[in-house]
Amino acid sequence: MIGSVPTVVVMFGPPGSGKGTQAAKLQAEVGLEHLSTGDLLRAEAARGGELAQAMAAGELLPDRLIEGLVEAWLDAHETAPGALLDGFPRTLEQARALDAMLARRGRRVDLVLALEVAEGELQRRILERASEQGRADDTPSAIRERMLEYHARTEPVLGHYRAAGVPVAAIAGAGPPDEVFQRIRQAWTAAGL
Ligand code: AMP
Repeated sequence: MIGSVPTVVVMFGPPGSGKGTQAAKLQAEVGLEHLSTGDLLRAEAARGGELAQAMAAGELLPDRLIEGLVEAWLDAHETAPGALLDGFPRTLEQARALDAMLARRGRRVDLVLALEVAEGELQRRILERASEQGRADDTPSAIRERMLEYHARTEPVLGHYRAAGVPVAAIAGAGPPDEVFQRIRQAWTAAGL
């Protein structure tokens, strides 16, 4: 169990870096509630429509839509020992909105775990997942679009947190998931959580 103060951790990284896998491990170990905006949105998109089309093309969805979902999720998980955010924030606008949402609740981001994986390995993993899970956005053109969005709009979020003095731990994301998780454990302890 973690300390008594609610903890907010951001799981950060490019598509295919293992955010979801590592977030699930961390959730099991420390009991934080896991929010995957991608999973929430896939559930919404299952009904079809514009959302499904934009996701299948690998585009980021509008900030306002995502921020509304996250705010509702935070309200629904007020008493949780903490939150593990996976796939959010993905733009500077979302990061600023999150800061404001947390500040209203007397909280802040305590740690950013930034998974780092070489581009060739990311492509290999996503294609493997495509054949196993058949995600609609694991096609070559959607993968290209998601990588472009990541570099253009998501990567700058790390600078936002560094400038704000939030600990950003770079985690080597190559290798077996359990080894990656050991590195996360070390970063967790080093951050004093
Ligand atoms: P993920 O499962 O995290 O890879 O997300 C899958 C897709 O959901 C993304 O490619 C976007 O279309 C959408 N999505 C998830 N999280 C966000 C977010 N924070 N901002 C915008 N779009 C998002």
